[in-house]
Amino acid sequence: MTQEMTVKQKRLFDMTQPLDDSGCWIWQGQVSNSGYGRIMVSDTDNTVKMVSAQAASYQQFIAEVPDGYLVKQSCGSRLCINPQHLMLLKI
Ligand SMILES: [Zn+2]
Repeated sequence: MTQEMTVKQKRLFDMTQPLDDSGCWIWQGQVSNSGYGRIMVSDTDNTVKMVSAQAASYQQFIAEVPDGYLVKQSCGSRLCINPQHLMLLKI
């Protein structure tokens, strides 16, 4: 990624181990029972909630996740949060 990251983007990126071969950013933080990364984030109204790491990444690097959608990895790695490997999936 060549463009400047915002503080929040950098904070997420710093919690990953980027892999050279696949380009995956492997999450190094908390992992849920289902095997996905997770992170506490504060909402716009300052309520704190637990979201998946990939959803947090999608929100910071791409856009808000619309209601009724999940963020999934197109590369197949549950711990990858590289925004270029993320896609929306209708629930
Ligand atoms: Zn990936």
